[in-house]
Amino acid sequence: MTSTESSHPEPLRGIGDHTLCVHAGNTGGPSGAIRTPITMANSYRLPDDPSTMNWSATDRPFYTRNSGDNQIALQRKLAALDHGEDAVALASGVAALHAIFFTHVATGDHVVVSDTTYEATWKLWSSLLPRKYGIEATFVDVTDLDAVRAAVRPSTRLLITEAVANPTTKVADIAALADIAHGAGALLVVDSTFTPPPLYRPLTDGADLVAHSLTKYINGHGDAMGGAVIGRTDLVEPIKAEAMVDVGGVISPFNAWLISRGSITLPLRLAQHQSNAQRLAEFLEADERIAFVAYPGLRSHPQHGLATRQFGGRGFGGMMAFAVNGSPDDQNRFVSHLRVITSAVSLGHDESLIVHVGADGPRVAAYPAEFRRWGHLRFSVGLEDHADLESDLRHALDATFG
Ligand SMILES: *Cc1c(COP(=O)(O)O)cnc(C)c1O
Repeated sequence: MTSTESSHPEPLRGIGDHTLCVHAGNTGGPSGAIRTPITMANSYRLPDDPSTMNWSATDRPFYTRNSGDNQIALQRKLAALDHGEDAVALASGVAALHAIFFTHVATGDHVVVSDTTYEATWKLWSSLLPRKYGIEATFVDVTDLDAVRAAVRPSTRLLITEAVANPTTKVADIAALADIAHGAGALLVVDSTFTPPPLYRPLTDGADLVAHSLTKYINGHGDAMGGAVIGRTDLVEPIKAEAMVDVGGVISPFNAWLISRGSITLPLRLAQHQSNAQRLAEFLEADERIAFVAYPGLRSHPQHGLATRQFGGRGFGGMMAFAVNGSPDDQNRFVSHLRVITSAVSLGHDESLIVHVGADGPRVAAYPAEFRRWGHLRFSVGLEDHADLESDLRHALDATFG
């Protein structure tokens, strides 16, 4: 067996989530090593007669922009985790999103995009892609299904949403959106970065392509960037052939290895992120010095019922947004008093991260009224002891409001 052949030739269907995260994609090494080694090689030995090779092929390693041992191992693992046929790994989450758009949309096409998305998705569709390539985008509140139906056109190619939106935590009804997309002859693209497997698998609710920022929960340790797209082979193969090979935002073998390694503990970590987040959301909501808390696990969340149903009781993720009842200066003072929770961007890391986001700018117009009034603190709840996080928040509230 060569190092690129899987020791699990059949997809690991029907296997438990912990087992999948331990074993999927691990091919072992040529010396008998039981872990896929890191292969820091740009190039692989060619067959005896390479003259008829397809230089755009991605199914065997020969040049690392097409495929390499560590990318193949990671891609197999991600396809198995999301119950998809195929996966492509790229250098960042944004590279993965752009790869979908670059491959599956062209000049003259139209897309429908959730009005609440990650910054780069919003920028790509509010200005860059329409201006540079003449693709039209309509932004819509995806919780208003009639508005989504009204937004699709004969030229609509993609309907793009996040399962739980960054940063407001708005929850999209993926099965309903898949019906609308398919009725219009469009594909449903779901950025599931806030809701990685096993919490949620949008493909099982009819999504056509799932994107993840691997930088976040799937790697989980805050030390490697990556992105991925998972779905049917007929939709993922063109992304590899066009956006990976010919645009070139590939993931490095080392990052692919780090992310394969980090994802081994994904279900264990998610359980801790989620139980911490639920308890802290309830703690914050009960404190009168807090202006609002947006977390899908709270009964007060507008899509709490949908989230409970859609995520099948497996939880609500580890992300929330809240604000202290005060001015922008008060939000900053509160953050400055935190000792365990770090003020930094990114999310889904082992350590808790918080970022104060203001209430200005065109994106914020689509946010709920409380986000526009107070701004918000986006809080990625980490793996620390719940008691330490709660006392950190309490101490910072006491220090801010004296
Ligand atoms: C972080 C993030 C991205 C972008 O991922 P990078 O790895 O930073 O490029 C995309 N979507 C969502 C929802 C994110 O949170």
